[in-house]
Amino acid sequence: MERSPLAATAGAFNVPLKCTPEETKHFVEPAMKEAEGSNFTGALEVVNDGLNAHPASEGLLFLRSYFCYKIADSISNELSALPQPIQPLGEGVLMVDGAMTNQMLGRFQEIVKVLGDAEEAINEILQVNPHNNEVTAFRAYIDSKLQKLGHESENMRMTFTNTPNIAGSFCVGCRKNISFDTQTVVFRKTSSTQLEVWHLPCFKQLGNKN
Ligand SMILES: [Zn+2]
Repeated sequence: MERSPLAATAGAFNVPLKCTPEETKHFVEPAMKEAEGSNFTGALEVVNDGLNAHPASEGLLFLRSYFCYKIADSISNELSALPQPIQPLGEGVLMVDGAMTNQMLGRFQEIVKVLGDAEEAINEILQVNPHNNEVTAFRAYIDSKLQKLGHESENMRMTFTNTPNIAGSFCVGCRKNISFDTQTVVFRKTSSTQLEVWHLPCFKQLGNKN
C-alpha cells in the first residue's frame, strides 16, 4: 500500500498530522515534491503560502517546523564540511581565520533563526493541541539543538572577541596592525599571562628562521 507523502513525514516523527484534502492537494503535495528534491526552502515557501490561507492547519504548521528544521540541518552539515576557522596547533598556539570565523558566526545566526521559526510553529500546534506528546518531543529535540548551537557559537564568539583584547592588535613579527575580522592570525601563549599575536605569514617566517 502506498503512503501519502504527509503520512511518510508524519511516520518519520510519529506525529499524527491533520490536513484537509484541499490543504493536502494544494500545499502538502507540492511542498513534498520540492522536499524530495532537497529544496527545503522551496518547500517552506509552499507551506507558508498554505498557512497564509489556512493559519490554523496543524498539518501545515508541523510541516513548517519540519522544513525549518531541515533547512537548519543542511546549513549545519555545510558548516561541518568546512575547515574549522579556529584551530589549536598545539604548544599553546591557536590559529584563527577571522574572515571565516565571521562568516561562520553569521551562518550560526541563520541556523538559530530558522530553528526559532521551527519552534514557534510547534508552539502554535501545542496551543491547539497541548497534549500531543510526539509534537512535544519534537520541540524538546529542537530545543536541545538550539542550546547546543548556542553554546558552540557563544564559545566561538568569546574566543574571537576576547583573545584580541588580551593579545593586543599589533603583530609581534612585523609590528603592523592586525585586522582580526579579515586576516588569519596565530595566537601564542608565552607564559601564563602573556599572549602574542602574529599574522599567519609572519608566524610562518619565524618557523623558517628557526
Ligand atoms: Zn605581521
